[in-house]
Amino acid sequence: QRAYNPRVGFGAVNSGGKIPLGLKRKGLRIVVTGGAGFVGSHLVDRLIARGDSVIVVDNFFTGRKENVMHHFGNPNFELIRHDVVEPLLLEVDQIYHLACPASPVHYKFNPVKTIKTNVVGTLNMLGLAKRVGARFLLTSTSEVYGDPLQHPQKETYWGNVNPIGVRSCYDEGKRTAETLTMDYHRGAGVEVRIARIFNTYGPRMCIDDGRVVSNFVAQALRKEPLTVYGDGKQTRSFQFVSDLVEGLMRLMEGEHVGPFNLGNPGEFTMLELAQVVQETIDPNAKIEFRPNTEDDPHKRKPDISRAKELLGWEPKVSLRKGLPKMVKDFRQRIFGDHKEGGA
Ligand code: NAD
Ligand code: UDP
Ligand code: UDP
Repeated sequence: QRAYNPRVGFGAVNSGGKIPLGLKRKGLRIVVTGGAGFVGSHLVDRLIARGDSVIVVDNFFTGRKENVMHHFGNPNFELIRHDVVEPLLLEVDQIYHLACPASPVHYKFNPVKTIKTNVVGTLNMLGLAKRVGARFLLTSTSEVYGDPLQHPQKETYWGNVNPIGVRSCYDEGKRTAETLTMDYHRGAGVEVRIARIFNTYGPRMCIDDGRVVSNFVAQALRKEPLTVYGDGKQTRSFQFVSDLVEGLMRLMEGEHVGPFNLGNPGEFTMLELAQVVQETIDPNAKIEFRPNTEDDPHKRKPDISRAKELLGWEPKVSLRKGLPKMVKDFRQRIFGDHKEGGA
């Protein structure tokens, strides 16, 4: 077993495990699949700022070049249009595997493709990690807990998931991705990390991705009613993207496989969220009730004691602090740079 140095990774692939001199100070070579997406692009910003070389692999299903364009021309940055369902040969030290649509609207659009991305895509990236001896981090999801019967959810909870529902392509896809990750770890000695991410929001979210925070913010800015599904009493916990990125990096660099819940334990009903959006954007914004979608989990809130204890991590940005940063970005993208504040 080759020694792993979290700053330097395993070194070059054909080095026989020895880190070639000179590589140490150059930073790591890191792949971020899904790096043109919402979370991925913020992670890329942090890795580049740290001095690492980053290769983004993305098929642009929900990601956008605009999210990473500010790195074009930087020799430490590379962007590859590639679908992770197809094999990929690269030489790297670490793989952050994020490629997968995250919004229910996007992942239900082509459910079979979502499963292929989660299963075949993850298999390929694990095969890559095995071949080059890279450390692999899977971005799994709180949806592995399904409609949870335990509250808040601990990592030891096995979940309550419908295997044949409209969300299953995502939930069960991610559960299989976790299984594959652990089997490559146990069977092939791949260094792996698993993050179970809870609802995350922030700048660069797709404006019309159907997720609740992006919907409410866009609706309030456009003077449309906020669409609350069902009775609005279902709960979620909303994490600002910079907190998540910090957690992902700590997990990758640390010594623990996980899984780790990464989320903000602050719990809100959708009606409470609508109220915070009203307070932040427009106190006169109306609320409109709509029928809820199938299999919508009633409650969700992470127990983050494990991440606190073993990664020294906890979220720092409250919903009321984070939301205005997202509103600023949405305002600019909806109304254009020069009409900030206009409607
Ligand atoms: P996103 O949709 O903004 O980003 C996903 C990225 O993956 C996009 O750039 C998309 O183009 C790319 N992609 C999708 N399928 C691909 C494929 N087959 N090959 C290559 N690229 C592909 O979503 P996000 O919110 O940034 O989520 C990133 C990861 O975090 C996902 O794996 C998601 O499941 C996980 N996650 C996110 C949240 C959240 O609230 N944002 C919650 C739980 C888990
Ligand atoms: N794979 C890849 N890049 C690599 C190595 C493997 O995309 O650098 C893919 C490979 O095509 C296969 C998957 O990862 O579909 C699993 O690879 P592994 O070597 O574990 O399994 P095998 O190829 O023996 O089935
Ligand atoms: N939701 C809502 N209005 C919307 C979009 C979503 O009330 O315009 C609700 C949805 O029914 C769910 C919660 O908000 O209970 C979170 O939905 P989202 O799609 O953001 O993420 P999920 O946690 O379900 O993956």
